[in-house]
Amino acid sequence: MIVDSVLTNAKAYWRNSIVDCSIAVEGGRIYKIGKETQMPKADEKTNLGNLLVLPGLIDVHVHLRDEGKSYKEDFYTGTAAAAAGGFTTVLDMPNNAPVTMSTETLRNRMQIAARKILVNVGFYSEFPADLNEVQDIVAEGATAFKLFMASQVGGLNIDDNRALKEAFTKTGESGVPVAVHAEDKAFLTANEEKLKQAKRNDTAAFLKAHTEEVELKAVERLLKVTAETSAHLHFCHVTTEQGLNAIVEAKKNGRAVTCEVTPNNLLLSNDDVARVGSMLLMMPPLRSQSTIEALWKGITDGEVDVIGSDHAPHTLDEKSADSVWDVKVGVPSLETTLPLMLTMVRKNRLSLEQVVRLLAEKPAEIFHLKDRGVLEQGQKADLTVVDFNRKFTIDASKFHSKAKFSPYDGWEVQGKPAKTYVNGLLAMEDGEIVVKPGSGEVIRGDHA
Ligand SMILES: [Zn+2]
Repeated sequence: MIVDSVLTNAKAYWRNSIVDCSIAVEGGRIYKIGKETQMPKADEKTNLGNLLVLPGLIDVHVHLRDEGKSYKEDFYTGTAAAAAGGFTTVLDMPNNAPVTMSTETLRNRMQIAARKILVNVGFYSEFPADLNEVQDIVAEGATAFKLFMASQVGGLNIDDNRALKEAFTKTGESGVPVAVHAEDKAFLTANEEKLKQAKRNDTAAFLKAHTEEVELKAVERLLKVTAETSAHLHFCHVTTEQGLNAIVEAKKNGRAVTCEVTPNNLLLSNDDVARVGSMLLMMPPLRSQSTIEALWKGITDGEVDVIGSDHAPHTLDEKSADSVWDVKVGVPSLETTLPLMLTMVRKNRLSLEQVVRLLAEKPAEIFHLKDRGVLEQGQKADLTVVDFNRKFTIDASKFHSKAKFSPYDGWEVQGKPAKTYVNGLLAMEDGEIVVKPGSGEVIRGDHA
């Protein structure tokens, strides 16, 4: 037997410890993990020089844009950013132009993506107006549904609890998870109206509109609406202690509920918004230092399931609109998440084991990404190779993303993605993309 390739001198994260080993790859899958002397013959041999090998990282919260929003990001630049940031699989959010919320929009998006992507991409759909189409969208290959509760994005009327319940009943039956942006539209718009009437359009007003209550009310409402369904409810970017507590409580009661936190909400505070300005506006917003500590505790205690980057590219003009109500929310994050998290490992905020759990194992488990998320024989050969010792300065001007700005521009970090293997293929090496557009795989949901 001659396999496609053998990677030697790896320090691989294997079965909860770091082992010196070699990895044989055949047909896009891990053929064998073991000693170099036990490796089969290979067409190609690569010496990894004792770099750390993690299971390919998965980012379940990415806005790849493209189509009508390709001026912000497209499938090529977005997945180049993913590969450069050490991510082998990303899940694409549906708030595009057009919104992904039908079999046609999903199929079309997959077709466009297939020609351009460099890593594996799975797709979210928003809910359609006619909930009978949910099953068709699942059959078309949606990995999950996304429900945006802060304003009307999809076809499902978010003011109608009965319609919400029906949507969660249907997704529960088909086994497909639903990721929710938990900010309640009614509470949020009431706050915004008051501030707009008072002629407020500054960053402090934005934070004032997006209160902790806005998040908590949405979390509580969704937990209630889904209580009698078998839906898997995944809370995106939780930013409050009370919201997290409500989710933890639901878990204790046996509910199929999971949650995500972004690096932004672990590393930046509302003081930074006051200092930096509208670039740091995101939804939900950055919170106080005490909330940051509560979220870190959620990580330490294993209550947080996933770290999602919420990669949200925009133009700098969009980020610096005159009125705060016109500023586009979010920041590009695919190229900063892993170095930031590895730096926090150095600072003993979390363990490497937790990084792997939060960025690979749990994302694969929650979103049914078959044969991904762990390093094991027979799994897809998605590998994130990291130089854990390498110190560098984050330079947003060098991003592969079209959005060349970052709250972390100029930050000193330690731990750099060195190589990214996607289905056994080397996609990124030392920050350079080394594969052709279209070499990534469109992931079709597998909810059997
Ligand atoms: Zn998002």
